[in-house]
Amino acid sequence: LPNVYQALLAAGIGELRLIDHMPGSIADRSPRAGDDELLMLTSRRHTLDRVLVEAARATAGVELRFGATATGLLTEDDHGQVPRVHGVRLADGQQLRADLVLDASGRRSRVPRWLAADGIELPLEAWDCGLIYFTRHYRLRPGTTWPPLNRVFSAGVYLPSAMVALFPGDNATTMVSIVVLAEDALLKSVGNAESFERVARAVPSIAPWMECMDPISPVYAMGALKNTLRRSVSHGRLLVSGLHLVGDAACTTNPTLGRGVSFAAAYARCAADVIATDPEEVDAQAFRLDAFVTRDIEPRFRENARFDRARVASMRADLAGEPPPAPPPAAADRVGPTELLAASFQDADVFRAQMQYAQLLVGEALLTEPWLVERVRTLVPPDAPPPMAAGPTRKELATLLSAPTPTV
Ligand SMILES: Cc1cc2nc3c(=O)[nH]c(=O)nc-3n(C[C@H](O)[C@H](O)[C@H](O)COP(=O)(O)OP(=O)(O)OC[C@H]3O[C@@H](n4cnc5c(N)ncnc54)[C@H](O)[C@@H]3O)c2cc1C
Repeated sequence: LPNVYQALLAAGIGELRLIDHMPGSIADRSPRAGDDELLMLTSRRHTLDRVLVEAARATAGVELRFGATATGLLTEDDHGQVPRVHGVRLADGQQLRADLVLDASGRRSRVPRWLAADGIELPLEAWDCGLIYFTRHYRLRPGTTWPPLNRVFSAGVYLPSAMVALFPGDNATTMVSIVVLAEDALLKSVGNAESFERVARAVPSIAPWMECMDPISPVYAMGALKNTLRRSVSHGRLLVSGLHLVGDAACTTNPTLGRGVSFAAAYARCAADVIATDPEEVDAQAFRLDAFVTRDIEPRFRENARFDRARVASMRADLAGEPPPAPPPAAADRVGPTELLAASFQDADVFRAQMQYAQLLVGEALLTEPWLVERVRTLVPPDAPPPMAAGPTRKELATLLSAPTPTV
């Protein structure tokens, strides 16, 4: 969508060339073919949403109805065949008939409940993340040169008890997130702005940013996050016809790996392709969309869930004052996300492979490519603990958070 892409840039969304931020620990800095593809867009959520809305509004044949809430589906039991969705019911009582309905209503989609009321249960895989995100937005002062990004597209650290990270946004804004266990009473006090700032300033990779930017929002809290994968096809059987699930309504993943918008865009592109290929055959479209999910979404979803479970187990051990649990055993012929990330800070080829994989430019077959498995295992033993950058210990955080608030 080159016109949308240009509109994103015109709205002040940044284009981060990942090669320009390759870790200093990699000696080989020579450019390679394909480097121009390694781009990340940096944006606050509402800037991205605004540009997408404007692009949709300017598209012939599209009618946007703001403030209209869908409250149910129009379904028909096609005489023992697969139940068929024929449209949606709106809160004001209107019924919108449709040849096809896309559920793009996000991670709190009510569609599964509406279907369940009609006796249609969509298979769901769900794992609690167990984490709470505390987030605050900032704006860099005019004329500021960016301090370094120690994690390629972000600055920050995985501490034993928390993740603290800064992400560049659009129009000289940044976002700082502190992610803690939902049951961690001490660290949840970062919901207070003063405590939030203290912890952010105590992280060496974030401290220089804090010196040259000002807050532009309160601290927001976001919890009850889950990794979920929901599908309308089960064991080769279509469960509902005339309805495709896309974006977060189909799959949500812990935002730590920053995959949500990429997944949503990939779902949208696949849905558009399958509809254009076979506009009349909604069931054939559903099976093709499901094949895409099996190939491109499911493996990354599972990897996300595994990564989360290992990370949360390690954070819980720290909270309990216990040593971190042993990492799960690595498969002999496949690299895992933690070892790939660690090796990507040491080798120019592994760095590019990791970024291509993270950005959905290549499929998961990459993870079993012999050259990559061999190179990663030469650089990082499979059972190595996750790399930890500098930052305060739990004891230091406790001291920081219990210090009295200075009076101004
Ligand atoms: C704390 C947090 C941080 C995140 N950080 C990142 C990140 O750094 N990078 C990244 O890629 N992703 C991130 N994500 C994920 C990303 O926000 C989502 O993956 C993405 O927004 C999904 O897009 P979507 O269009 O499927 O759903 P949404 O963006 O949730 O949009 C759904 C829309 O449907 C509307 N809607 C819902 N129900 C109804 C109804 N009944 N009737 C009418 N309208 C309805 C909603 O109002 C909303 O506008 C983050 C998520 C969270 C919670």
